[in-house]
Amino acid sequence: MKHNLLLKQYHLKATPQRIAIIQLMHHSGHISIDELYQEVKKRFSSISLATLYKNIHTMLDVSLIREVKIPGHKTKYEISKESHAHVLCTACNEIKDVPLEAASLLQKSIDVSQYKVEEVSVVISGLCPECQKK
Ligand SMILES: [Zn+2]
Ligand SMILES: [Zn+2]
Repeated sequence: MKHNLLLKQYHLKATPQRIAIIQLMHHSGHISIDELYQEVKKRFSSISLATLYKNIHTMLDVSLIREVKIPGHKTKYEISKESHAHVLCTACNEIKDVPLEAASLLQKSIDVSQYKVEEVSVVISGLCPECQKK
């Protein structure tokens, strides 16, 4: 889907800056604010970090994007998609999506803990194929 249409689907104005943010997020898969800022600044030299944060929060509010919290790492952001787990390379910090059947895990967690569950976040860490060769 075109990135401007994606913004419109969430009833957000497709500003050039927002389109650039979505493009970068789409391209990298998972990106931190700092990484995003460095890239966005190349195209919009006058953009401030505060403006970037504001745009990120607007997109978070409507769930166009979501936070990826990985213990010991800076929060990354990704475009919302069906539930998935993350694999993290402990050597190069690459993050990849892997399919996750979240429904059964969620139900089991609720059955066992009686918690009112809000979110499922699964991170599997190890060495990526590239780093295994080293
Ligand atoms: Zn690696
Ligand atoms: Zn992801």
